[in-house]
Amino acid sequence: MTEPAAANDFIRDIIRRDNEQGTYGQRVQTRFPPEPNGYLHIGHAKAITVDFGTAKEFGGICNLRLDDTNPDTEETEYVESILADIAWLGYSPAQVLHASDYFGQLYEWAEYLVNQGLAYVDDQDNETISAQRGGFGKPGIESPYRDRSVAENLDLLRRMRAGEFPDGAKVLRARIDMDHENMALRDPVMYRIRHSHHFRTGDDWCLYPTYDWAHGQSDAIEGVTHSICTLEFDTHRPLYDWYLSQLPLPGDQPKQIEFARLELTHTVTSKRRLAKLVAEGIVEGWDDPRMPTLSGLRRRGYPAAAIRAFCTEIGTTRTNSRQNIEALESFVRRELNATAQRRMAVLRPLRLVIDNWPVDAAGQPVVEHFEVANNPENAADGTRLVAFSGELFIESEDFAEVPPPKFFRLSIGREVRLRGAYLVTATSVEHDADGNVTTVHATYDPATRGGDAPDGRKVKSTMHWVSAAHAVEIQAALYDRLFTAAVPGDATGEPLDDLNPDSREVLAGMAEAALAEAAPGQVVQFERLGYFAADPGTPLLFHRTVGLRDEWAAIQRRQG
Ligand code: ATP
Ligand code: MG
Repeated sequence: MTEPAAANDFIRDIIRRDNEQGTYGQRVQTRFPPEPNGYLHIGHAKAITVDFGTAKEFGGICNLRLDDTNPDTEETEYVESILADIAWLGYSPAQVLHASDYFGQLYEWAEYLVNQGLAYVDDQDNETISAQRGGFGKPGIESPYRDRSVAENLDLLRRMRAGEFPDGAKVLRARIDMDHENMALRDPVMYRIRHSHHFRTGDDWCLYPTYDWAHGQSDAIEGVTHSICTLEFDTHRPLYDWYLSQLPLPGDQPKQIEFARLELTHTVTSKRRLAKLVAEGIVEGWDDPRMPTLSGLRRRGYPAAAIRAFCTEIGTTRTNSRQNIEALESFVRRELNATAQRRMAVLRPLRLVIDNWPVDAAGQPVVEHFEVANNPENAADGTRLVAFSGELFIESEDFAEVPPPKFFRLSIGREVRLRGAYLVTATSVEHDADGNVTTVHATYDPATRGGDAPDGRKVKSTMHWVSAAHAVEIQAALYDRLFTAAVPGDATGEPLDDLNPDSREVLAGMAEAALAEAAPGQVVQFERLGYFAADPGTPLLFHRTVGLRDEWAAIQRRQG
């Protein structure tokens, strides 16, 4: 798939204007700043395509910054998954950086603000500080510690830094305006005391910066020009600008630009909630194929190119909305149609015995081999030989002992095509003690080799099959939506209330021998059944990526 042309959007307009005005001397530098407290999800893929894609388009660079300012929730495992997922998506950061590398500089700047009379140590607890913040139309209340002298503040801050006080005993706050119409500017907290082990800085620090105190300053230290984030930071932008305008920055003052988060129907994109699914064992891990994490989607068989194309083509705006999951699936299907090799597999096997099939001189059923294209969409994928003999498996639902109206597949007396092989007619069935059909008997027409009758007679259906003597046993995992509601949590406020209890069904199927050679992670099309990804670890386990029917096209038709 060729990469889609980059859309024009308001972010590019801002950068173009900055380039025209020489704001950053034509320099464009962005960053992708995940907190290593979970695995990346489809929403992050959107941010990655925006951050990396925009920088690349303007000849700039994009760094990965691990926003590791919260020692309690962050782990090396998450850092490693983030690196792997970004690489898999097809991007490579110019540099891998860590906010924790700036703890020293941030602290110096904090003392600088104290010296300017722009920050103070507050002894009140969190609840009191929140209660004093006020609200819209309701002024805040100034802390009784707000007017401490510079000397006292400096002394207290140094003792906080030295570890003299327990967690929660004091905070450092910016001294801005407790009546500001923007709550974010009502003396925001800059530092909290936290005696906790950090996965990189160990026990060097017991002061940890808040997001607002760390983010813009980290951008400035790195030389970021355009700091692109999601819309919920909109109201924080004045604070972002305030900190930067007070500090002796090493270079240009970066600019924060916000865009709407990517949300999908039937999907939750919140690390906290995804972490809960993992912790409670509702899914089998962060890379469970039902998870909207990049590792889950990868295991499910989603091609990186399809995710990139989706993220790019939906565009980037400042209006929150929810995309249809079927639209993403449609991109996946489009990509896989071009790239996935075709195979035959039967997921609910029913034995089909061809009674007039010939035997060889030794009395063994003859085996024929049919040469079939690996991918009719791509001749370069070549062909393979598929064995055919007198005993086959067909899909249970392709046979009906008592055919309902409009059932055109196999039934007694009806002729159908076994794809690429022969026309066969069912003649009788065998049952088990419970009356279930265990075997269908049929005859074949030797004149129809390849699947067409020389007399031109037509059949109404073509079915897939596998030769029983040559089949390999497979496990096929079929998935339904993890959340039944289009907007999980819409009714109760709790997304987990809308969990689908039947989101996975694992079937024991039979497949043509070539599937034994599927590479880990390879995605193939099981004819008539969908695209399936070979599990990266368990041989002969396949996850259904998507079905073959384009539900997105149907939705668009319905919507006119
Ligand atoms: P979560 O709420 O899932 O924890 P987050 O925003 O806290 O997400 P971060 O690790 O802080 O996660 O995010 C890194 C970057 O990815 C940020 O710039 C953030 O704005 C962006 N991002 C996160 N979720 C989405 C989303 N759904 N759509 C677009 N961008 C996102
Ligand atoms: Mg976050």
